[in-house]
Amino acid sequence: MMRVGVLFMREVLCFTCKKQSTNYIEILGKYICESCQQEILTLSPGDYGYDHFHNEIKILWEEYLECLIKNQVINHG
Ligand SMILES: [Zn+2]
Repeated sequence: MMRVGVLFMREVLCFTCKKQSTNYIEILGKYICESCQQEILTLSPGDYGYDHFHNEIKILWEEYLECLIKNQVINHG
């Protein structure tokens, strides 16, 4: 009997904790594992670690904007 629809989760490197994970979300081409997602959700401003995550997301966002700007430059010749 053949089984179809089996999901092959691919292992990715988490952007924030740098660990391999098959349970992740993708944001702007970077991966954030589930445990980091949970940590981000439970962190509040002032907590140790909040600044770290905030900073990582900021870096991610800046890279994304940089990409957009570069693409625009290329498009405009
Ligand atoms: Zn992680």
